[in-house]
Formats: sequence, structure tokens, C-alpha cells
Amino acid sequence: MSRSSIISTIQSRGSVPIAFPAEKLTEYYATNVFNDAAIKKFCSKEAYQAIRNAVDKTTPIDRKLANDVAEGMKQWALSKNVTHYTHWFQPLTGTTAEKHDAFFEPDSNGNAIEVFNGKALVQQEPDASSFPSGGIRNTFEARGYTAWDPSSPAFVMEYESGNTLCIPTVFVSYTGEALDYKTPLLKALNAVDKATVDVCQYFDKKITKTWSSLGIEQEYFLVDEAFFNARPDLMLSGRTLFGAAPAKGQQLEDHYFGAIPERIHSYMVDFEHEAMKLGIPLKTRHNEVAPGQYECAPMFEEINLAVDHNALLMDLMEKVSRKHKLKVLLHEKPFAGINGSGKHNNWSLITNTGVNLLSPGATPQSNLIFLTIFINVIKAVHDNADLLRASIASAGNDFRLGANEAPPAIMSVFVGTQLHNILNDVEKNKPNSEARAVGSIKIDKIPEILLDNTDRNRTSPFAFTGNKFEFRAVGSSANSANAMTVLNTIVAETLKQFKAEVDGIIKKGKSKEEAIMETLRNYVKKSKNIIFEGNGYSDEWVREAAKRGLSNIKTTPRALDAYVTPKSEKMFIENKVFNKRELHARHEIMLETYIKKVQIEARVMGEMAYSNIIPAALQYQKVLIDSVVGMKTIGIAKTKMTSQLDIINEINDRVTVIKTQVDKMIGERMKANRMADTHKKAIAYCDKVKPHFDLIRDEVDKLEFIVADNYWHLPKYREMLFIR
Ligand code: ADP
Ligand code: MG
Repeated sequence: MSRSSIISTIQSRGSVPIAFPAEKLTEYYATNVFNDAAIKKFCSKEAYQAIRNAVDKTTPIDRKLANDVAEGMKQWALSKNVTHYTHWFQPLTGTTAEKHDAFFEPDSNGNAIEVFNGKALVQQEPDASSFPSGGIRNTFEARGYTAWDPSSPAFVMEYESGNTLCIPTVFVSYTGEALDYKTPLLKALNAVDKATVDVCQYFDKKITKTWSSLGIEQEYFLVDEAFFNARPDLMLSGRTLFGAAPAKGQQLEDHYFGAIPERIHSYMVDFEHEAMKLGIPLKTRHNEVAPGQYECAPMFEEINLAVDHNALLMDLMEKVSRKHKLKVLLHEKPFAGINGSGKHNNWSLITNTGVNLLSPGATPQSNLIFLTIFINVIKAVHDNADLLRASIASAGNDFRLGANEAPPAIMSVFVGTQLHNILNDVEKNKPNSEARAVGSIKIDKIPEILLDNTDRNRTSPFAFTGNKFEFRAVGSSANSANAMTVLNTIVAETLKQFKAEVDGIIKKGKSKEEAIMETLRNYVKKSKNIIFEGNGYSDEWVREAAKRGLSNIKTTPRALDAYVTPKSEKMFIENKVFNKRELHARHEIMLETYIKKVQIEARVMGEMAYSNIIPAALQYQKVLIDSVVGMKTIGIAKTKMTSQLDIINEINDRVTVIKTQVDKMIGERMKANRMADTHKKAIAYCDKVKPHFDLIRDEVDKLEFIVADNYWHLPKYREMLFIR
């Protein structure tokens, strides 16, 4: 289809009419979730209690009760017109995986009966030999297990052609190593729960369990499906590898929080319905800064659930977009020159007594808990900044971090003016004017904290926002489990060390409060150079950070090294999050993923240059040449044809550079491909192959500018970004 016919097709589309699932949200919210109410209704008392114990106390469910649960789940699912069930998991491919089995089996009389027992619920053995395992699982030993995670409720996915019961599971190898995102996350959550409770016991004996909360803001772009299909780069690599900047981009800042276009609005409402039915508490929707960019955010939830819900949401957004003839782009940088997309991870720790540990309290006593957790988080980021950077590393995010519109690759923490002052007071041991006695204990060094919530910094990768930290550097296409596994592990580790130090000081005869304040003071001193309140997008910060000795690791293959340092290894092993083999396997997989992503882009780039761009340029050049020849035949002097001749020459020069660069890039790719060592190969792709991208693109984008519009086949930026 030509560009002009694509545009007229799109203009005739209009918005897709939406049918509301029910009049009131309460009538359809979470109706497709096997939640507490559904379990109560469909399961025996014993089975219900077994699930509760599994969720609240991680007590395993025994075989007999698993059968009861499966029976209840089946009855519930059948009431939702379900024909198939699947274990639903998140392998390291970055997407979700499912393998559907029918509920129905023929009995001995050849009639169909519905079969689904405890065994099918609890464990499955998908032939998973082609999922990435980083060498843990050879293809001849293809078995991998999926095992039920009762802490994330089962749900029903609706399809026109029949509904499926999805059972969230972990995915592990035959030998028990994690092959997915969920397994290490659950382990990290365990570690942080234990470490936090141990520290909270100083303050409140009633705190016996804590949970990490996560609210994920998801940014995305939407383009019309017809544009998408006409752009091989978008289709195969998720981002545009070519495209001249439109005369108008985001400079007028008229898109952010602007009115949502009708057609987009109808899409948003539609996927929100689907999300709500699955109990994903979507609350917010708005336009983002770049044209064609949007954001949605649910209410925060327990991390494991929030991560599952985000993975599910991305699937839903994709599924529903088809109906609207739109394509959702979750890539971190689909378009050069305008903002990329992130996935802000809002994180906190909450106790069984209902206290948000990152919310400053009204009394000095509660402020001491707050300060303890707050300062420990800062210390954790300070001590493990490189690992945190590694947790968000991906080929896509490399285009975003440090690109002057996204948090830099330098990890720093923003705390706001008031907390900054308070940290200074803590460090200097300055008695606070608000000193008060709490019960019989006199605490005179704990400041009162009244926060001004308008104190925000959008340029910080890790910002305190009043009652939570917002990890803003996470990429839009990432599975948040990676970042959250690392964050919770480093916080667990820091809190463990903290407790050991405080206990040591108490043993020497100091009071608990003195020991805590002394340790906190020490932590502030040690970690304050990670705190930065200024503009994280500025060049001054890059220089200042270098002076402070903070790392600025710009590329993924190097950033990933932090996963496998002896220090990280020790921490992951001691907190039982990864064993050594798992950690190295994961590192290997992440490097391989990086290589593959860059390799695909390189291939697409070469192919598009040869088969699309050069031909378009030469066709137009021929028109100019014909024109020049024609002019000559009617006696026009060459000196009067300089404009035509200039363009002919420019096309020739640019085409020559493009071809040379593409050929060089292919040469570098071949060299890299021969490397046996994955790390070296990833570095070669990063340092030798990728630099050609910009050189090629630059020439192509300039051609786009001079080649006659009707000769240019690829949809242009202004069209993809502004026509909907
Ligand atoms: P903004 O960042 O624009 O101020 P909100 O305050 O609405 O946005 O919060 C953004 C996200 O942070 C939402 O998903 C929200 O549910 C989540 N959030 C709020 N409080 C917490 C918390 N205590 N722990 C984790 N996430 C939270
Ligand atoms: Mg936010």
C-alpha cells in the first residue's frame, strides 16, 4: 500500500464503539479472578484455609487439599465458560508463556468428561527446551517444571473462541534452578520481609510480617496498525531505525495531559475494562510528553501481584489494540528525538499492622522507624548502585538512560529539601527543637517530619515521593521483577547488616535508641554522596557525579557485569535469591538477549537500506536525471541546472555512504558472530556493530528530506506521530 493510501485508510477509521461489560464497575471488577470470595464460594472450608495459609504463611498445600482446590477452581472456571486451562508463567524471553490443555478428556465410553485434579493444578511439565536457560538446561534435558504460585490468584482470559483458565506459576529447571522472573522475586521478597521484620522488632513487637508494595506506571506509544505494518523496523525491532525528525515534535509541550483523542480514548476504555475484569486496579490514564505517547497506572499492590498484573496488562494492551487497528509500542525508544518510555516503579514496605514504613509518622517514635528504613534504603542504593543499574539494563533502555530526557545511567537518590536537611541534622547529631519524651524513653534526636509533597524531581532515577520511592529508570518493556528482585535484595542485605551493627553497639552497653541513631548517623555519612537534588538531565551532573566517584555505565553489556561480581554473588547467595549457577546463567541470558536485539536491528537496517531506501532515492534521482537530459535537448545550458545537479550529486554521495556503512556493519557483525565468548560478543555488538547505526541513519534521514515525498515509501514521523 502506498503511503497516501495508508493515510486515507486511517482517516476513514474512526473510533471503535465500546460495549460496557456492566453498568457499574463493581459488577464486573475482578469477576474473572479466582479471588478470596470465589475461593470461599467454590471450595471446601479446609481447602480455603489451605490456600490462605499458603498465601499468608507460605505453608505448602498437601495433595489431598490440592485436589479439593482444583475441583473448586474447575467448577468456578466452568461457570465462566472455560474450556482450557494453562499454567501461566514469565520465562526470560520477556513475554508471558502459556500452554493450553483441555479440561475435557474422553472417558471409556467415548464421552467427554471434565478432568482437572490437584496434580494438574500444582505442577506441569511443559516441554520447554526452547526457552532461554543460560546453559542450565541442555535441550536433551528439556524438562522444566511450572509450579503453582498460590499468592497470585488464578484468572480467566476471555477469547472470542473460548475462555482459558490461567494459573500463575513459577518456572524452574528439572534440577530446581529458576528459569523465570517470578522465582527469584519471591525469594527476594522473603528475604526483605524477614530482614525488615527483624529491624521493626526494635520498635514494635506486633510487627511480624511486612510486604513490599509496588505501583507501576506504564508508558507506551500508539501508532496505527497500517503505519506499523509498513515499517519493517517497528515490526521487527519495536523501534524506528530511520526517520527524519518532524518540523514539530514535542517542543510545544502541548501533548502532555492534553485532551485524549477520541479513538485513543475508546482503546483505553476498552483495555481498562479487560484489566478491571481481571482485578487489575487501573486508576490513571493520560497523555504523556511526546506526541503519540500515553501512560496508565494501577493502584499499588503487593509486588508479586503487581508484577504479574503488569505482565498481564501488557498482553491485554497488545490484544485489545488489534481490535482498534492500533499497535501499542512498549519499546523504550520507538522514535528518536522525542521522549522514550519508562515504567516507573513506585515501591514501599508495609507492615502487618498497616503501617507504611516509608511514610513519616506524626510522633518521634514512628519517625524513628521511618528514618531507619529510609536511611537504610539510601545506603542500599549507595552500596549497590551498579547492581541497581544492571537490573534495568537492556538494549532498548540504553537509548533512554542518559539521553537528556530520561534519568541518567548514573544512579542517585532524590530526597527533597526537607529530608535533606533532616539527614544533615542526623549526621551532625543536632538535637531537634521538637525533642519530646516518648513514654519512658527520652528521644531527643529525632526530628519531626512534615513533608511538603510538592517537592518533586522528575529527573532523578530514584526519587523519594513522600511515602514511597519511585524507581524511574526502569524501561517500559521490562518485566519489573528484575528491578524489584535487586531492590528488595539490596534492602534486605542492608537491613541485615544494620541489625548486626545496632546489636553490636547495644551489647557494648548503649541504649537501643542510641545504638540506632549512631548507626544511622554513620550510614548517612557513608552514603550521602548518592543523594542528588539537582537536574539529573544536565551535563553538570555528569561532571559532578564523576567527581563524587559515582559510576555512569552507559551500555548494557558493561552494566550487566555488576550481577556477577564477587560482592553481588555473595549477597544473592546469602539471601537465597540466586545460587551461583542461576546467577551466571541469568547473566549469560541477558547478554544473549542484548546481542540478539542489536543483531536484529542491524539486519533490519541493512535490509531496509538496500531494498527500500536506496531504491527510492535512485528512482527519484532518475527523475532528476531525465529532467536534466530533457532540458539539455531543448537547449538549456548546464549552468542553469545547478539545483537539479546538486540534488543528483547529493543523492549519489549519500547513497554511497549508506552502502559503504551497511557493508562495514555487516562485516563487523560477521566478526562478532564468530566470537565464542558471549561477553566479548556483546561488547563487539555494542562497540563495533552499533556505532554504524547512527552513521547510516543520519544519511538516510537526510535523504528523506530531499527525496520527493511521493517517492518515499516509509511512513514518516509526522504521520505516525500525529495521524490517528
Ligand atoms: P505520581 O507519581 O504522579 O505522584 P501517584 O501518587 O498517583 O502518582 O502514584 C503513582 C503510583 O504510585 C500509583 O501506582 C500508586 O498506586 C503508587 N503508590 C502510591 N503509594 C504507594 C506506596 N505506598 N507503595 C507503592 N506504590 C504506591
Ligand atoms: Mg510517578
